[in-house]
Amino acid sequence: MKKEESNTKKLVILGAGESGVGTALLGKAKGYEVFVSDFGKIKQGYAEQLTQANIPFESEKHTEKEILSASVVVKSPGIPEKVSIVQKIMNEGIPVISEIEFASEYTNATIIGITGSNGKTTTTLLTGHLLQNEIENLGVAGNIGDSFAKSVLEQECSHYVLELSSFQLDGVFQFTPHIAVLTNITPDHLDRYEYKFENYVASKFRITMNQSSEDFFIYDADDEIITRYLENNKTKAQCIPFSIQRELEQGVYLKNKAIMMRFNENEEKIAQVSDLAVSGKHNTKNAMAAATVAKLVGIRKQTIRESLSSFKNVSHRLEEVLKIKNVHYINDSKATNINATYYALEAVKKPIVWIVGGVDKGNDYSELLGLVNEKVKGIVCLGVDNSKIIKAFQGSVEHITETQSMQEAVRMAYQISERGDTVLLSPACASFDLFKSYEDRGDQFKEAVRNL
Ligand code: ADP
Repeated sequence: MKKEESNTKKLVILGAGESGVGTALLGKAKGYEVFVSDFGKIKQGYAEQLTQANIPFESEKHTEKEILSASVVVKSPGIPEKVSIVQKIMNEGIPVISEIEFASEYTNATIIGITGSNGKTTTTLLTGHLLQNEIENLGVAGNIGDSFAKSVLEQECSHYVLELSSFQLDGVFQFTPHIAVLTNITPDHLDRYEYKFENYVASKFRITMNQSSEDFFIYDADDEIITRYLENNKTKAQCIPFSIQRELEQGVYLKNKAIMMRFNENEEKIAQVSDLAVSGKHNTKNAMAAATVAKLVGIRKQTIRESLSSFKNVSHRLEEVLKIKNVHYINDSKATNINATYYALEAVKKPIVWIVGGVDKGNDYSELLGLVNEKVKGIVCLGVDNSKIIKAFQGSVEHITETQSMQEAVRMAYQISERGDTVLLSPACASFDLFKSYEDRGDQFKEAVRNL
């Protein structure tokens, strides 16, 4: 272990969600005096876990006296730095770190960190899938499933695959993944970065800032934001680029519709794109990134190849729902920004009836115009305010309608579509104007399709 028990230092945790409660349990086990504070209502399951572990906590308030006496504060990634309690903590000179930073102090496992604007979950799960057959004690955690802290406490893993959001990366200082993956960078969450794209970009690159020449940094070489940043900001890690556009001298690329790797002079075929379990160009990239990690970890090529074709992605990401009267229905509710929807429209080869809309996070719909002109025959807008979408596309498609109910949206799409078409829910927007979450939106879509 890197770090041993503390001499009763005080650990304060802001936010009692998955990561906060995991941190509390780990901190307590490591000898900290722990206090958990949440300005919102703590979910019952989490409150119970804290009570059982004898950890004091407060719900729906922040008691400053308790909080400002901390030696270290772990802040939930959901809480912005600008809120007043965090400002007060920082003004006192108390370090504010993330759960990832805290938990990484207590494990010597090989860490694989995966970040990017889109594709984190898919690439993390796919990497886990490629590694699981040959790595006995593998943990897959982070922004997905169990928290990293809880996992460090409960199982001794030799390797961790961690999905990392930019908010989690904002709170890391010493954290060093042995292998870092950056899938892509497109504008998202700018409200948390003073509406400055460069701040968001810099946050993503924190994943590599502590890496040394013994570590690896895998990235999308077709992404200009990434390559431009790297030109001006060197990383010490060994860089492994991947590209679907050109053959690389060193790295991972496509040749004759197969994923190839070349390190030094040695070129190796990994898998045929048509054998991948996931479809679309974006998923070919995700597969390249995951296969590179697997190769670096020493997974056999045969296992990589087989696992790439047996992977089953999680719901709401280009998920095939049903085929009715020869029309495919696809649920891509997780597409909450333009870039994700771009790849969905790109991946579907049939004429599309597109269900789009929700809470717009500053979308520039003109980026989709080319694909819409080429492939989309009808648009069903599903949001409280659809004016931007209608303005952007009304000249481009035969049918454009709007509604505020999923059931009606599916029914409208059903009426517009003809044999051979695909009805695609890929909203390019967040869900919370009409739905609880993107999962709720996707589930309602599937339910409505099944009821057709
Ligand atoms: P994240 O965890 O980063 O949100 P997901 O794997 O959950 O990423 O995918 C989110 C959305 O982005 C889905 O609609 C998915 O189809 C799309 N997507 C997945 N990988 C990529 C990628 N490499 N580039 C662009 N879009 C992607």
